[in-house]
Amino acid sequence: MATNITWHDGLTHAERSKLRGQNGLTIWLTGLSASGKSTIATALEQHLLHSGIAAYRLDGDNIRFGLNKDLGFSEKDRNENIRRIAEVSKLFADSTTVSITSFISPYRADRDQARALHEKDSIPFVEVHVDVPVEVAEQRDPKGLYKKARAGLIPEFTGISAPYEAPENPELHIRSDQLTVEESVTVIVEYLTSKGLVRL
Ligand code: ADP
Repeated sequence: MATNITWHDGLTHAERSKLRGQNGLTIWLTGLSASGKSTIATALEQHLLHSGIAAYRLDGDNIRFGLNKDLGFSEKDRNENIRRIAEVSKLFADSTTVSITSFISPYRADRDQARALHEKDSIPFVEVHVDVPVEVAEQRDPKGLYKKARAGLIPEFTGISAPYEAPENPELHIRSDQLTVEESVTVIVEYLTSKGLVRL
């Protein structure tokens, strides 16, 4: 029986990227709750998709309530949360998608581990610190979480009763109280194109 199926044993990341015509990578957004990670991630995802680039956002809604629904917010559970997110994001990136993660990820060691996981397989990892003073985040408080944390209703709330360890050498540092959402997306896209990570 004649077939037109093309295959060979194994497929390297480089071959997959060439066949798909784009590179995969992880854009790791980190910052306080309400710093603007999800807002920027959503705008960035849309911009890339409109430009013909496969992009996908991992966030609390599709990870915390699914794969990681067994995890809480203790330090140990946060470590495991980030470990799993890093593995999943790496898989998306390996499939040649631009994977955008939007999690507080407060511990430096966890983010460094996520980076190491990618770098071991030569998958680019772009850490973006979405930064605002905690007072600004608290004023924004779109979900009322700071208010609840101040009232003692949410234990271990980052920035209030749990630490946030700011990145020391992120690829990008965005002050979301000084840039608009559009400007933040532009900063990220310009970085990606200047490094040849995406072609628009
Ligand atoms: P996070 O995902 O970091 O918890 P969100 O994106 O859910 O943060 O919330 C950030 C809030 O701040 C949103 O209500 C957003 O509209 C608002 N905001 C105001 N200015 C900006 C800005 N320049 N960049 C990002 N978010 C902003």
